[in-house]
Amino acid sequence: MDRAIDKVRDALQARGLRLTKPRRLVAEKVLSARRHLAADDVLEMLRRDGTPVARATVYRTLEMMKECGTFDEHDFGRGRKVYERAIGRPHHDHLYCIGCGAIIEFQEPEIERLQDQVTRRYHFIAMYHSHKIFGYCRRCGPKAPSGDKAHDEPPRHQDTKND
Ligand SMILES: [Zn+2]
Ligand SMILES: [Zn+2]
Repeated sequence: MDRAIDKVRDALQARGLRLTKPRRLVAEKVLSARRHLAADDVLEMLRRDGTPVARATVYRTLEMMKECGTFDEHDFGRGRKVYERAIGRPHHDHLYCIGCGAIIEFQEPEIERLQDQVTRRYHFIAMYHSHKIFGYCRRCGPKAPSGDKAHDEPPRHQDTKND
């Protein structure tokens, strides 16, 4: 984990920015998280740890980390963006359950290969991509779509790599 924070520090320094204590606290939460975090999640976690960081600082830090390439930002259309560490992790894409909000990560070399093929065809220099598939997860599938109130909050346990 310390190696990762060094990379964050370097990435910020390369842009003339400093890894201040509050920024470090925010960065560490996302680096060590095992799921995708929204700004509100980070705020709440820091508050619970007794190391609160101002809301504006949390938002600005997440934005900064995205811009320097250490975090990935995703918008799954629920009115909030979520973040995850980009450094020290293999590239992956996402399945998003519109029933319960679960985020499932996947890696598929064949999709990557086809994307490369497409960009080459158009002489397009790809810098990054974010492939998202929206639908219903295993648990939401059979009864979807439903207006089940109990399903409005995303169950966190399902935001894992392999489920
Ligand atoms: Zn679901
Ligand atoms: Zn992810």
